[in-house]
Amino acid sequence: MKKERVLPWLVELSRVDAAALAKGRPGDLPNLIYELRQWLDLEPDEPLNAEVTDLEKNPARLQAIIDRVEELLGAVADRKSFRADYSGGSVILDAGKLGSEGGRALSYRDANLEDAVLRVALDDLYEDVEAALRIQRCQEPECLGIFLAERKNQKYCTHRCANKTASRVYRRTHGEKRAERERERYRRKILERTGPNVRVARRRRREQRGDDR
Ligand SMILES: [Zn+2]
Repeated sequence: MKKERVLPWLVELSRVDAAALAKGRPGDLPNLIYELRQWLDLEPDEPLNAEVTDLEKNPARLQAIIDRVEELLGAVADRKSFRADYSGGSVILDAGKLGSEGGRALSYRDANLEDAVLRVALDDLYEDVEAALRIQRCQEPECLGIFLAERKNQKYCTHRCANKTASRVYRRTHGEKRAERERERYRRKILERTGPNVRVARRRRREQRGDDR
């Protein structure tokens, strides 16, 4: 996998719903697993190959790995620390691959796939700090998804989330103004009927009745 593609791909991975993918279009899950294999850059003789292949039959296992990636990227987005404990395995340096595009010079013979994924993801984050610092968390409360910001101060992962927040804010302020106008109109109507010495009770505000969805 090309270097520029690595972190965008990791961010995409962190947002994958494995069960939905398994039920979706027929090629989607195999495609993701193919990309996972490309990204890990496993040697053909590595035992982990079998574990990657098995993911196709076991979306729950894949989801557990994705959740850990999301946790890791979330820690980066929130500028918090992340801890992975692993046991066993070895690291092999293939100096012939140093500096080659797409190939990993270091290969990890980890005990399990989750360890391997986390270790490779940690490496990638560390290797491209500039891109890693663009990892952000969407500020739309119903999303909070992780995304790779394209510009500084980008708060939302998509236009959809930005619009959602904007319309919520609009509804809230607009709703308050509308309620105020209604109260004012009511007050005037009562004044016309009864003269100036009647207090008008505040009516319950519209958004408290569940208009603010
Ligand atoms: Zn979002």
